Amino acid sequence: MLRKIKNGLNRILNPLIVRETSLRLTHKFLKSKSQQITSTNKKAIVFAPHEDDETFGCGGAIAIKRSQGIPVKVVFITDGRYGRPSWITPDNIISHRQQEATDALNVLGVTPEDIYFLSQEDSKLSDLSPESHQELVTKIQEIIKNFQPEEVYVTYQYDKHADHQASYNIVTEAIAKSGISVEILQYPIWGFWQNPLLHKLKKQDLARTYHLPIHQVHQQKLKAINSYKSQTPGLPPSMVEQAASDYEIFFKTSTIKNK
Ligand SMILES: [Zn+2]
Repeated sequence: MLRKIKNGLNRILNPLIVRETSLRLTHKFLKSKSQQITSTNKKAIVFAPHEDDETFGCGGAIAIKRSQGIPVKVVFITDGRYGRPSWITPDNIISHRQQEATDALNVLGVTPEDIYFLSQEDSKLSDLSPESHQELVTKIQEIIKNFQPEEVYVTYQYDKHADHQASYNIVTEAIAKSGISVEILQYPIWGFWQNPLLHKLKKQDLARTYHLPIHQVHQQKLKAINSYKSQTPGLPPSMVEQAASDYEIFFKTSTIKNK
């Protein structure tokens, strides 16, 4: 009996289980509290810290836009080299992940000429030297200026991954410097991967939370997720479930005005 109680307590206190539960519950909670949106005909750029974030977080939004012929570009900021399963050698992981990304985006209707790999070192975005940071901001600024997007998708600013937070900061800095007005839609990936008591989610965050139903492209999104065979087995099941649901969660940020 004592052993049973002890095992039970261990299960409850196991941080992994707490995190899995947190991610599942928060995702459902956000959907219940959010306003429903429909896809717009605005041309968009999706920024993904790693090869898989774009499909997991907004694969449905991408597929809907592309099915309507709306231009979408996807920019991968890091090379994802540390998301490596043991069956891929360190020499091959970068090209392998690029191929998976190209395959996933092909399923979603994005062709290789609309995909950019900026090849920053994985997991180091928040530690860039001032020079490297500036160089990256300038590169993103140029892409934005040339394409003139009306919507920008980027990872949630409080996502529980340093590269994801840094991506938000770098992309919004580039938008502000590029002098264009765009709507920013932040997508959570690791967003709520922590003890729920530590959530930074506030009332004002809930007021700008939206969910986009993606029924019409759901099968396409599942197929795109399936392209990421080097990634999905190593990820928490709750995250893959979240990615595989038939809606997507976004936090809208007010438009950044010209500077
Ligand atoms: Zn990522």
